[in-house]
Amino acid sequence: MASQSLSISIKLLIDQESNVVLLAEAGNDFVDTLHSLLKLPLGNIARLADKHQSLQPGCLYNLYNSVNNLGLKSFRTEACKQMPLYPRNVHDVEFKKLKLNMDLTVPTGHFVCGNQHCNEKEGGLFSYYDTQRCSCGKLMNVRATTLQKCDAIKDETDEVLYMEEAMFFVTDDLRVMQGFPGDLFQFLLNLGFKNASRIDEKVVQIGSKQMTDLLIHSLFSKTTLADVFLRNHGIVSCAPMLDERSSFIAPNVNETAEKDVKTRVKMMLRKSDRKVLYAEASEKFVDLLFTFLTIPLDSVLELVLGANGNLTLGSISNLFRDLNTIFSISNQQNSQLGVLPPFYSCANEFPNIRSRDPPQFYYRYTFIHHRCPRRSREARVVNKPLDPKSPMLITTNSSGYVAKNTFVVTDDLVVNPLSSFSSISLLKGTETSFDDVEQKVISIGGVEAIALLGACLWSSSALSASLNFFAKKPKQEPL
Ligand SMILES: [Zn+2]
Repeated sequence: MASQSLSISIKLLIDQESNVVLLAEAGNDFVDTLHSLLKLPLGNIARLADKHQSLQPGCLYNLYNSVNNLGLKSFRTEACKQMPLYPRNVHDVEFKKLKLNMDLTVPTGHFVCGNQHCNEKEGGLFSYYDTQRCSCGKLMNVRATTLQKCDAIKDETDEVLYMEEAMFFVTDDLRVMQGFPGDLFQFLLNLGFKNASRIDEKVVQIGSKQMTDLLIHSLFSKTTLADVFLRNHGIVSCAPMLDERSSFIAPNVNETAEKDVKTRVKMMLRKSDRKVLYAEASEKFVDLLFTFLTIPLDSVLELVLGANGNLTLGSISNLFRDLNTIFSISNQQNSQLGVLPPFYSCANEFPNIRSRDPPQFYYRYTFIHHRCPRRSREARVVNKPLDPKSPMLITTNSSGYVAKNTFVVTDDLVVNPLSSFSSISLLKGTETSFDDVEQKVISIGGVEAIALLGACLWSSSALSASLNFFAKKPKQEPL
């Protein structure tokens, strides 16, 4: 990718004595890229961290790898495996305009049937994946180059993702403010600096690897810039995440509404330390987990931070709130438009995370009049998109990704079919005696799903971390 060689420079102001980052001076290219990181679906964050060998937050990579390792039989269609594995992003086109494009989204493809007659009739079909079949039975694997969007009304309502040339001040804990020299002096005065004698300037180059490190560290560190640019960031452990657990795990959301259809999960607990050994669950619970990979980070933050305006998570909550102010983002407007691409319908537990309506496309072709070639002409018909999650042709069946089955989910969110799981070897491996094991059936509604989503990012024992919340019996975590 050409953008990988590109880098952005920012200037760090460092206190020589304490080796602390006081502030960074950055241009709009840096702030735009930070903004784009918040728009990445969690699955792409897992891929990005893996590619740059950065720390993986919480259990995200285990969840991602579970999708990768499960056989096709575990999914409703072939596309159902691809969708959470390579989640598409509604902003992928805008991201291409950025100097440093961090997005790993595979460009959206449009495929049609190899049989021309199928495409040229009114109501013909196209597919976003090359694994679906046409009504004639043929695989729809011909890349359609003559599909043309019918109208661009949706695009006009898109938010502005990047901004005009501007200067910003960014603090170590990722507060972002528009920068003017006078503000800088006042900021330093407020920190107790009367002159510049102790302040060092250091210009750092930020490529894709450093940007990924910034993102991952921001999830749990309050000194993100210093972690990445002044310290050996590899040394920082994930331990600070655990400290946050008790505060984030109970989101400030009203009780789940009665009408919610709850998913039931059987948890196998170790009584002595209330650690979840594993959970037995239907495809509905696994679907909920796999949905996490498709949700953009800013929507996750909106859910987890909820109405709790005071909650701080690493530096990312500062970044999220300040960028929302700078870009004047109305989250309500954002969720009305839909934050997921077409057909990426989300689990019932997250009613506000919606997918966009599929756009309509014209299929352009040359109508050939065989008896009178002079009457041949350019023609076009409206083609309809196929729902990639539906194994039935034409019907839009927006259920989940996973086929009916019983699965086992470990505490760190490794998912396997029940048939390939050995509870004996797990008990052996964790040195747990039979009489120390207790079964508990948990119902998952909206509130519990948000707790689990947060735990997936901020804890390496997501089920145990969530259980305190499920049980509504908060317990002090051992350090
Ligand atoms: Zn066909």
